Amino acid sequence: MGKPTGFLEFQRELPPESAPLERIKNWREFHLHFPDEQLRQQGARCMDCGTPFCHTGLLIGGMASGCPINNLIPEWNDLVYRGLWREALLRLHKTNNFPEFTGRVCPAPCEGACVLGINEPPVTIKSIECAIVDKGFAEGWITPQPPVQRTGKKVAVVGSGPAGLSCAAQLNQAGHTVTVFERADRIGGLLMYGIPNMKLDKSVVQRRVDLLAKEGVQFVANTEVGKQFPVEKLLKEFDAAVLCGGATLPRDLKAEGRQLKGIYLAVDFLSANTRSLLDSQLADGKFVSAKGKDVVIIGGGDTGTDCVGTSLRHGCKSVMQIEILPKPSDQRPGDNPWPQWPKIFRADYGQEEAAAMYGEDPRKYRITVKKFIGDKQGQVKAVRTVLVDWKQDDQGRFIPQEIPGTENTYPAQLVLLAMGFLGPDDSLIGQLGIERDPRSNIKAEYGKFATNLKGVFAAGDMRRGQSLVVWAINEGRAAARECDRYLMGSTVLP
Ligand SMILES: Cc1cc2nc3c(=O)[nH]c(=O)nc-3n(C[C@H](O)[C@H](O)[C@H](O)COP(=O)(O)OP(=O)(O)OC[C@H]3O[C@@H](n4cnc5c(N)ncnc54)[C@H](O)[C@@H]3O)c2cc1C
Ligand code: SF4
Repeated sequence: MGKPTGFLEFQRELPPESAPLERIKNWREFHLHFPDEQLRQQGARCMDCGTPFCHTGLLIGGMASGCPINNLIPEWNDLVYRGLWREALLRLHKTNNFPEFTGRVCPAPCEGACVLGINEPPVTIKSIECAIVDKGFAEGWITPQPPVQRTGKKVAVVGSGPAGLSCAAQLNQAGHTVTVFERADRIGGLLMYGIPNMKLDKSVVQRRVDLLAKEGVQFVANTEVGKQFPVEKLLKEFDAAVLCGGATLPRDLKAEGRQLKGIYLAVDFLSANTRSLLDSQLADGKFVSAKGKDVVIIGGGDTGTDCVGTSLRHGCKSVMQIEILPKPSDQRPGDNPWPQWPKIFRADYGQEEAAAMYGEDPRKYRITVKKFIGDKQGQVKAVRTVLVDWKQDDQGRFIPQEIPGTENTYPAQLVLLAMGFLGPDDSLIGQLGIERDPRSNIKAEYGKFATNLKGVFAAGDMRRGQSLVVWAINEGRAAARECDRYLMGSTVLP
């Protein structure tokens, strides 16, 4: 696929981004597009490797290797190289309902498994994916496609994140009448109220929601199933239900001083910011501002990065990101070979911006919090930390151990806890009497997605635990297929 000699002729290039110090002045997306000719060259680097791993989505070493939704990457790379954009879009939509989301926010395990990546920089798959679908919208090729026939079956989808949306899209295409319930005031789950606007513009999310609505999906916002909409009604009024409520219980930190004012869960900080931005361009003041504050973010992952980017846009005084794990190496370690997801050190957008602003990466590794220190008004003013060593115990497990004498105190008037999620919240699951797995997620076998309650399925973070948008799309699609099979006795859904 691509140009046979493309990988020899062209170097990997990534599309331009607006400069860090410029982009932190606004909330707009910072990724820009290549001109078509440059994208064709990047597509041309795909080298007809014979046994592509980029689209396998296998779990190797506990991480996804290749694309979890099995995007037909070599095929659309070739179509882009040949300038056949509309055909590339058709091919892309066969496996992915929402390439405009993954093309913006996916960490791209496909690129970690690209065969060219064994000894050269991999093909720039994610940017090509994004360019194909953005062109599709710009050219007006993406229009509502309502199903030709309705089956008369009614399905409820609970939760409107990427799992719920992809599930609804597929079930609707199969002709079922789909209602999506969402307790938040806007549709989109973490696409809307988790991932910040500069990474995924909310008009991009809304555009797809509007398209699905035109195709016949009904959206009911401000309605929690199990609260405003009783579970008895759910079971009585619908022929089947798919639970896609996400892993919404954030992990907290039990440290002295946690009750002080100025300490927030990252997801609350981020969602309030986006809501206020969308409602009033931050004029209503219904968000926590980092302006003029020393910000300490606990957690070195994606959510922490989003807090860095958001704090910088508020105009914080300083920002530091604390991570308990050791710093990853710059090259793949020996026990992490291709085509595994490369566990290497990366600087994401928030870190690039902080480095441009303050001259250094905001992350500090192998650090944990000992306590939070407050002032007389009960407001946090500092964080007391200590360095840790990771030592193996008798059973070979790595355990962090504090290193005496390495305590430090950092000023902090705003602390954000970005330490991941523990699983779904109890209310709906408890009311329905749904079984959980040992990690407290909904118990439903991958591939079947059926819970212990007949006609009730589960998908996305609510079933697999905190994960990625691309996995949520994978599960939403596959759960729709199983739900369709349950309703009709057989299924044509992929
Ligand atoms: C800050 C942040 C940044 C992230 N960044 C990335 C990223 O860059 N790339 C990436 O791939 N992944 C990212 N992720 C992870 C990704 O967003 C999730 O894995 C994905 O959204 C999960 O999709 P989901 O549909 O299963 O659940 P969610 O997106 O969590 O959606 C679940 C929805 O269900 C609703 N709900 C729950 N219970 C009920 C009920 N009883 N009634 C009605 N509604 C209900 C919730 O309000 C929520 O809106 C990020 C996560 C966070 C928190
Ligand atoms: S969805 Fe993610 S893994 Fe799949 S092709 Fe796109 S960027 Fe790669």
